[in-house]
Amino acid sequence: MSKVSPRNYYDEILRTLEEHNKAFSGYIPLIASENIPSPAVREALTSDFGNRYAEGWVGERVYAGCEYIDKVEFTCMDLMKKLYKCEFVDPRPISGVVANLVVYTAFTEPGDTIMALPITCGGHITFGPKKLNGTAGAVTGLEVEYLPLDYEELNIDVDRTIRRIKRMDREGVKPTMAVFGASVFPFPHPVKELAEEYHSRGAVIHYDSAHVSGLIACGEFQNPLAEGADTVSVSTHKTFFGPQHGSVLSWDKYAEPIKKATLPGLVSNHHLHAVAGLAIACAEMLEFGKEYSKQVIKNAQTLGQALYERGFKVLAEHKGFTKSHVLLIDITKYGLGGDIEKKLEQAGIIINRNLLPWDVREKRNYINPGGIRLGTPEVTRLGMKEGDMVEIAELMKRVVVNKEDPKKVKEDVNLMKSKFQTVHYCFENTTKAYEYIKIR
Ligand SMILES: *Cc1c(COP(=O)(O)O)cnc(C)c1O
Repeated sequence: MSKVSPRNYYDEILRTLEEHNKAFSGYIPLIASENIPSPAVREALTSDFGNRYAEGWVGERVYAGCEYIDKVEFTCMDLMKKLYKCEFVDPRPISGVVANLVVYTAFTEPGDTIMALPITCGGHITFGPKKLNGTAGAVTGLEVEYLPLDYEELNIDVDRTIRRIKRMDREGVKPTMAVFGASVFPFPHPVKELAEEYHSRGAVIHYDSAHVSGLIACGEFQNPLAEGADTVSVSTHKTFFGPQHGSVLSWDKYAEPIKKATLPGLVSNHHLHAVAGLAIACAEMLEFGKEYSKQVIKNAQTLGQALYERGFKVLAEHKGFTKSHVLLIDITKYGLGGDIEKKLEQAGIIINRNLLPWDVREKRNYINPGGIRLGTPEVTRLGMKEGDMVEIAELMKRVVVNKEDPKKVKEDVNLMKSKFQTVHYCFENTTKAYEYIKIR
């Protein structure tokens, strides 16, 4: 048996990281939940902030050494409030999942019932019941009543939701919280239309903005707080420019329970390097976000149309496919989602398999579902425009429809991508988007 030394492991890990960056510089990245941060945000992530603790609320820490950390976190909060026009922000939740947990912890008790979309209809794992090991049930002890989805409209069905709430009234079940938002989120959810139904029953309205946090910050999707939401959870790295992190937005009157749920409830250190990166991302959003968000949506709509014209069954055609960054495609004409995902990966086109709302009924599951999901945040940040979307659609057609050898197509994918190697919509970009930064 050969003996592998620690140094071998060390070298191999670092080499693998470098190889990953190199591979991504050649890929066309279309995962809807991913983005690429600016060099400035990456610089913040390598700063000493990432080695510190700052427990407590900003300015009231219970650790020494927080002078500069406080300064940056105050700025981060000011900029978040500017972007979202909200009264209160807690920037400490370390991810979108933790942000949802903060809200559940602050406003519900075990055994309470929340209403949210099921995973099969675009809902997130954090909305799920215990029997599916979802966060709401398995971690917070919540019961989950599903919000009904209109399959044609790809949106929450308002009339059926009201009927469901009234059925719950008759059964003596009170919804403690309504959770809007989804991981397949092409159209604004009916917050305004349902706010009164929930508020009149004493329910908290929570809006999980994870996928569309950047679009909302720039006024290019709905404004949930203005439409009746009490709390909003944020992921800072999907359509937003940041590093991976989370936040909760709300009104001053809900500040105390949220602050307590975050700490001591759900974080100890709150990834201060990510807070610094987020602060920088907020400044970039304020300066460039509007133009960026408009282009993200234009790109998604153009990609939807171009794929549709090439034989892909992109859903919600009658509504222009999407009003956000995301597209959902029924791929069953050409295969199953998992298989198509692999084939496209061989061609350097990175997408994810996705359940269609009717997959379970048709005996398909998440391993090889009937759909694929595409998103345009990262390709847009790299500077791609409508013409490039048509080119991507053509490359996808060659793999999926024409069934060309993915390895052949990959050459053209790499060639196309070679023109998009810097991050746009940022103040400085002398380092390339996927450049591996060595500081050893
Ligand atoms: C991605 C996502 C989350 C989780 O966000 P993380 O930042 O990855 O923890 C939460 N809710 C929805 C709807 C999401 O799509």
